[in-house]
Amino acid sequence: MKVKVISILEDNYMYLVIEEQSKQAIAVDPAVPHRLLEIVKREGLSLTAILTTHHHWDHARGNEALLKEVPGLKVYGGDDRIGGLTDKVTNSQELKFNSINVRCLFTPCHTSGHMCYFVWEDECTDAPAVFTGDTLFIGGCGRFLEGTAEQMYHNLTQVLGSLPQDTKVFCGHEYTIKNLKFAMLVEPENEKVKEMLSWARARDDDDKPTVPSTLIEEFEYNPFLRLSEEGVQKFTGKTDPVEVLRALRKEKDKFKKVFVALTLHLINFRRCPPLHVCCF
Ligand SMILES: [Zn+2]
Repeated sequence: MKVKVISILEDNYMYLVIEEQSKQAIAVDPAVPHRLLEIVKREGLSLTAILTTHHHWDHARGNEALLKEVPGLKVYGGDDRIGGLTDKVTNSQELKFNSINVRCLFTPCHTSGHMCYFVWEDECTDAPAVFTGDTLFIGGCGRFLEGTAEQMYHNLTQVLGSLPQDTKVFCGHEYTIKNLKFAMLVEPENEKVKEMLSWARARDDDDKPTVPSTLIEEFEYNPFLRLSEEGVQKFTGKTDPVEVLRALRKEKDKFKKVFVALTLHLINFRRCPPLHVCCF
């Protein structure tokens, strides 16, 4: 089983899961359909299905165009708002595409119909893969747009956290550097965060993706999977894991706002009077 990582839009990923023997392929969140079809054609693949993690346009907007271009294509997802949905899936449902198996994992919170997909191949020694959309990122997790900290806690610890530890994590966005900068703030003493951040910066310099990571690695540096760690509890001032997660997400949202405000300030700097109060 081969997973092709395709960078699209500003910082999104779409993926092709390829069964190498039959050259059949499944796409995950193919939001730039013509680019996907070019690759499918160039590599002599046949596209049989789309797995959609959630209905946001930067994940699902390619479905309808692909349905028009590829006869018989199936579009799977867990939310009626997903464009072009042909087959709605439920938690733990398993799909089979020749030797490739997919287990649908319902992970509501970022959106109320979010699905992750756990994928493995029969009689293959390759590690399995999980496509986590906007639920779990490398070094971070998705915003709680339509759900609660309780739901995200369940998603991260029970649903994703209990998968085999060597599972490769393919997420929906390249947010790794931003996430690890926040992780540094949470756990400044964590050597793994430092190592991972300098590795991610080197990848960025070479214009290379940081996906995939593995679950076992995520547990070492991703603060959203380290809710029982002393440093993370100290940072949030909480001890109950759900409360730690809730507080951590709130801090991350603030961190993001500061990051955006600083960026806007730099853009507008020339137009601002020096040290004008609006900028700080
Ligand atoms: Zn999203």
